[in-house]
Amino acid sequence: MPEQIPVREGTFRDGSLLANKCRACGQTFFPKADLCLSCSHDVLDEVVLGRQGVLYSWTIAHMPASRFMPPYAMGYVDLPEGVRVFAPLIMEENRPFRTGMDMGLVIEPLWIEGDREVVGYKFRSLGEGGAS
Ligand SMILES: [Zn+2]
Repeated sequence: MPEQIPVREGTFRDGSLLANKCRACGQTFFPKADLCLSCSHDVLDEVVLGRQGVLYSWTIAHMPASRFMPPYAMGYVDLPEGVRVFAPLIMEENRPFRTGMDMGLVIEPLWIEGDREVVGYKFRSLGEGGAS
């Protein structure tokens, strides 16, 4: 099995995203902030985010990008902790994206770099109508 490295240090662990939360006002940040962007307090505690959220918006790109082959989808998912996460979305033919649909976190390899897999986070539709 190839060595796996995270796409960005400290963004996830054991299948969940990691955020931090301001000890003064309770605002939660993903990716983690060094300083509360809401009240400037500098003591923030690490929190593990829920793995399910709701799709806020998305876009489907048809132009090649450095790491992704078109078409691919990117979107914003609102998590219960009040965090809006921007991430690639997994496209599935029978599950078109809709605002407000339930999305689940997926941690998986994004691309290969030399002999290592770069692992990152994506979301996929949890679907309606039992399409699983
Ligand atoms: Zn704060």
